[in-house]
Amino acid sequence: MSATPQTQQDLDRIAGLSYLNPAAPEPWASFVEQIERVRPYLGSLERWIETLKHPKRTLIVDVPIERDDGTVAHYEGYRVQHNLSRGPGKGGVRFHPDVTLNEVMALAGWMTIKNAAVGLPFGGAKGGIRVDPGSVSKGELQRITRRYTSEIGIIIGPDKDIPAPDVGTNAMTMAVMMDTFSMNRGGTATGVVTGKPIALGGSLGRQEATGRGVFITAREAGRQMGVPIEGARVVVQGFGNVGGIGARLFHAAGARVIAVADHTATLVNEAGIDIPAAMAHAAENGGLKGFAGASPIDIEDFWRLECEFLVPAALEGQLTVERAAGVRARIVVEGANGPTTPAADDVLRERGTLVVPDVLANAGGVTVSYFEWVQDFSSFFWTEDEINERLERIMVGAFSAIWKLAQEKHVSLRTAAFIIACQRVLEARAERGLYP
Ligand code: GLU
Repeated sequence: MSATPQTQQDLDRIAGLSYLNPAAPEPWASFVEQIERVRPYLGSLERWIETLKHPKRTLIVDVPIERDDGTVAHYEGYRVQHNLSRGPGKGGVRFHPDVTLNEVMALAGWMTIKNAAVGLPFGGAKGGIRVDPGSVSKGELQRITRRYTSEIGIIIGPDKDIPAPDVGTNAMTMAVMMDTFSMNRGGTATGVVTGKPIALGGSLGRQEATGRGVFITAREAGRQMGVPIEGARVVVQGFGNVGGIGARLFHAAGARVIAVADHTATLVNEAGIDIPAAMAHAAENGGLKGFAGASPIDIEDFWRLECEFLVPAALEGQLTVERAAGVRARIVVEGANGPTTPAADDVLRERGTLVVPDVLANAGGVTVSYFEWVQDFSSFFWTEDEINERLERIMVGAFSAIWKLAQEKHVSLRTAAFIIACQRVLEARAERGLYP
């Protein structure tokens, strides 16, 4: 699928987009609103808050490839470095037919906050290509990935900006990106991307890390709210690297996963779904559709299921005000980036539903990406137990600091996470000063 017909529409969106424009489309507008909510808590650092509403560097690249049938197709790609005050940029690359610059800007902003909230020495960045990876051949996808990597090669690097997998990309994508960057540079640079295959300097535990972090923060939230994992009813939207692995960990810990959804099906079974069987079915058939261990349910009814944990682990903007008004979960744990709009956040708070925000709940992935980057630099690799122990320590520590601040200031966990993160970023910003 060529991206050309959509370019004009996108240009229109970009043209109408001043970063301060309150009419800027979603999801960047959500990100800006989340930043605004932190303003009253910043003290003298408020002077620098506008920094966070202006991505530092935004690169739009044309990605032309020769298709298998001999024609030439163009795709639009992006890499946004939202903030580099605390270290090199860090964040995934998304391949999805709906990717826009606006979306990548928001995702890069959330990476800035996420990395600072858990204390990783990175800024925030994100990339993407508007392409449906399922609509092109393996060879075409590899050519798209190589050309994109070459085009953004001027701003990425182990000490500049380190991409990783996100929606629609995986360890193989990272292998190709690492190889392309290394070829262009004339020397192998394992640390340019994370989430690589183990044979290329990848880290044990990285693939599971995001789902594991979701599970750890859910467990911690449950502890505070008096909701044990064992016997808890869990509803999970998204059944990929985050939702699938998260569901498996809940299931293994004795929770009852009563509903799961992916882009092929939405399924419920109040008695509890056999998650390993559902995962095997999804791996074999490319999705949950046709899985016999649960029955189809309407997506709107899915959001209204009574449960202890609701885990949106697909795309942003899923929990709208309308859906939030029907939510009957004690705790929402955001596996996806930006699944809840700010207005829906308020509705959930009024209803007494605790939201464990994305910038905390899904930070396990980038945390183990950090471990991978450190291991690549030192060429010294850790055991899986060491990695999981360190991940556990960082996630539990971040959760408890954010929880404590939320109690003290009577704010949501999201606002507390944003306060901690914005203070760290803006303190670095202030101490570095403006150049020139
Ligand atoms: N794409 C993941 C995220 O949104 C991981 C990013 C990374 O490991 O750099 O957090």
